[in-house]
Amino acid sequence: MMRVVVASGNAHKVTEIQSILGDLQVCRFDDVFGYPHDAVEDGLTFEANAIKKIDFLPLLPDTIYLSDDSGIEVDALNGAPGIYSARYAGEGATSTQMCTKILSAIAGEPNRQAQFRCVIALRFPDGRIETIDGVVAGVLDHEMRGGDGFGYDPIFIPDGYTQTFGEMSAKLKNELSHRGRALRLAAQKLLL
Ligand code: IMP
Repeated sequence: MMRVVVASGNAHKVTEIQSILGDLQVCRFDDVFGYPHDAVEDGLTFEANAIKKIDFLPLLPDTIYLSDDSGIEVDALNGAPGIYSARYAGEGATSTQMCTKILSAIAGEPNRQAQFRCVIALRFPDGRIETIDGVVAGVLDHEMRGGDGFGYDPIFIPDGYTQTFGEMSAKLKNELSHRGRALRLAAQKLLL
């Protein structure tokens, strides 16, 4: 049976991916290889970084690698922090530090529109790579609400809703999120 090996060390992401690709055999990279996944993310786009996370891994006949690169693009900051979202408030910053930094950067700014973007990359046993883009648009709240998510979840309100991602159930967030959208498209390619 074909397995999908998720090239990420982020346990929260792997859990989200497993719940969306429930019908497939999804494995964590470190469980399969016995060491943590690591890659240099020095690309200039989400797509380049997603590919860099898997293009050097050994091709195996029963393994499809899946990676993602994601972040938040804030209109008033000309799309920043974008690919630098994870490091925006410094290496190892907490969700609170990340959210606080964005809220200060756009204080007094009337335009609070933002979008989360996720690019999924798939690498098939023959070495072929495909990428899939998922986006969710919304607005940034004035304060943090809900602590159930990670990263910028507590300040992001998707269009059409009043709750932040941090306040939503994992199920609802997965239905709406950039990663959920990209993963459902990816699942179609994986099930072919
Ligand atoms: P990556 O691990 O290089 O893809 O970095 C993604 C970063 O973007 C994370 O560390 C978060 O700060 C942010 N991010 C991406 N997706 C989400 C999400 O669904 N909710 C909140 N923050 C996110």
